[in-house]
Amino acid sequence: MRVLLLGGGGREHALALGLAADPAVDQLIAAPGNPGIAGVAELRSVDPADPAAVAALAVETGVDLVVIGPEAPLVAGVADAVRAKGTPAFGPSAEAARLEGSKTFAKDVMTAAGVPTARAYTCTDAESTARALDEFGAPYVVKNDGLAAGKGVVVTDDRAAALRHAEECGRVVVEEYLAGPEVSLFVVTDGEAAVPLLPAQDFKRVGDGDTGPNTGGMGAYAPLPWAPPGLVDEVMRDVVHPTLAEMARRGTPFAGLLYVGLAITADGPRVIEFNARFGDPETQVVLALLETPLAGLLHAAATGTLAGHPPLRWRDGAAVTVVVAAEGYPAAPRTGDVISGAECPGVIHAGTRRDADGALLSSGGRVLCATATGADLAAARDAAYALVAGVELAGSHHRTDIAAAAVEGRITIPG
Ligand code: AMP
Repeated sequence: MRVLLLGGGGREHALALGLAADPAVDQLIAAPGNPGIAGVAELRSVDPADPAAVAALAVETGVDLVVIGPEAPLVAGVADAVRAKGTPAFGPSAEAARLEGSKTFAKDVMTAAGVPTARAYTCTDAESTARALDEFGAPYVVKNDGLAAGKGVVVTDDRAAALRHAEECGRVVVEEYLAGPEVSLFVVTDGEAAVPLLPAQDFKRVGDGDTGPNTGGMGAYAPLPWAPPGLVDEVMRDVVHPTLAEMARRGTPFAGLLYVGLAITADGPRVIEFNARFGDPETQVVLALLETPLAGLLHAAATGTLAGHPPLRWRDGAAVTVVVAAEGYPAAPRTGDVISGAECPGVIHAGTRRDADGALLSSGGRVLCATATGADLAAARDAAYALVAGVELAGSHHRTDIAAAAVEGRITIPG
């Protein structure tokens, strides 16, 4: 099988490793890729969010499957353009990707499908925002109603800050605060059949102890030793299948990766958000544990044959990833610093590039994801931090508590 992978971050490096390890894959091409992905794929400098350019590349290279990593190409209609040329694409249509692209649309679908989620109002002016904030009370949750690369959400006790964020965004969703530990559940679907991957947890805040501003994600681990038994079955029954059925009913079936972000509250799992693609950095840990060949799974979803796919197989043990971020991330990341110690197994490239002399430089806020597996969560955590210790990048920072609360049994579900 020949596969074209779109994107160039840590998620795509993890996807590239999984695709390249599939014995059915004899050629892997990535656009634009990154220096880590270059180790397992041929790179092409095509803009992954340009539907016509990607479709032309898929035809030119004769690939059997296009795997779309980031959200921007999905919302731009890249999956539609590729499919229109007759090539299977793993990723939803632009219409279906609105589950991620518009918070209001997602809430609308959830309401119609009876999916348990936070109560919410869409607000476009200060007056209605203030009314919604006062109805729900603190902590206040204000979300930009558009794609914000995971950074458009403010959760704060400061009412003035909540109002300010709403004013900056223009159109926002104000919602009730959901208390409880968070879970990321990835579901591979062809629009009808749906296969859950292992639940994972990520760390959104920049600082230890969940302090500081939200980021794209500072680390992740899987599986979740504290998750209630039956959680995945319950989410498939109450969230995933009703959502897929509602999308199909609207004539815009969702095929690709449905990312369900949940809070496990006293009243059970509640959806915080949907995304239309693999999450970053949870992908790094989930795929590190997946034994089933990845390209075959994604191809089945892209060709409507997922119901006939064999059950997934998982490695024993656990996986942890720790993000090494650039100085100033998330507010104003500094780029262009020399990186050393990054070229070893388990170090996933997220924001790196090579200069003309071949030196590895930082090129984004999240630079590397030190990813390791182990016999249990404690061993995986130790191994991931040993990888972090081997990386040198001036001014970089990382969280020191990724998976710590889970290892120490400190995660509790309210109620
Ligand atoms: P989102 O982009 O919707 O995933 O939001 C980013 C982060 O904000 C989530 O991972 C949560 O930590 C937090 N968050 C979003 N919505 C809520 C909510 N309703 N209650 C509590 N925390 C939330």
